[in-house]
Amino acid sequence: MTNKYIYFVANWKMFGNIKSLNSLDKVIKFSKHNKNNKFKLIYCPPYTLLNLFFEKLKNTNIDVGGQNCHFLEKDGPHTGSINSKMLKNIGAKYVIIGHSENRSLGETNSIINKKIKSSIKSNLKVIFCFGETLKQKRKKLTQKILSQQINAAFKNIKNTNNVLFAYEPVWSIGTGVIPRNNDLENNIRFIKRTIKKRLKLKKPKVLYGGSVSPKNISKLKEINDLDGFLIGGSSQNSNKFIDIVKKTFN
Ligand code: PEP
Repeated sequence: MTNKYIYFVANWKMFGNIKSLNSLDKVIKFSKHNKNNKFKLIYCPPYTLLNLFFEKLKNTNIDVGGQNCHFLEKDGPHTGSINSKMLKNIGAKYVIIGHSENRSLGETNSIINKKIKSSIKSNLKVIFCFGETLKQKRKKLTQKILSQQINAAFKNIKNTNNVLFAYEPVWSIGTGVIPRNNDLENNIRFIKRTIKKRLKLKKPKVLYGGSVSPKNISKLKEINDLDGFLIGGSSQNSNKFIDIVKKTFN
């Protein structure tokens, strides 16, 4: 894995304020060591900080994305929402779609499908999150669910070149528990096979997300065929985030 180009996506969720931007200084300094272009750092802060992130990260090789968007691409009377066009307009390159924290609030596969269509149309790169719940895992439904989620999310979508597929077992998000290497490797292999077959994508990029930390990265980086990590809690601490990147390549 360590010879590959690796993505590290920092999902700050509903955390962060103006003061937390200072913590980016260390990451900016660290990112200058990325001379061989071995990795891509992407920050997805809350909407309130997007503009400040762009300002802070301009002239760096760190990219910025949104954490979600409305499924409609056109402006309209939708209080509290923003659309993919608005994200693109302020300079976002990426958008996270389908995060389990939004699925649990009622975001269906069909809504996710519309959000992905709209984001692709707005020229955003999509970080598509999907994964099974603990109940589904216990019932041995994992691969069935993953396949259903991929099929439904990409229904009638032809061009998936700009999509990062983030496999995030719901039971692993924010719990400190990660899958056994064997299970994770099997699931990543299954996901890549499914995407190649159904979406006709030759080289899908698949990330893992769920409690990634400096403590478990040495184990996770052993997984064959992973293209990177989506990191929640640990990404809000710059020392931990940098440590994760460093340990991936050591
Ligand atoms: C996430 O937000 O997608 C995530 C994986 O969170 P955490 O790393 O905190 O489990």
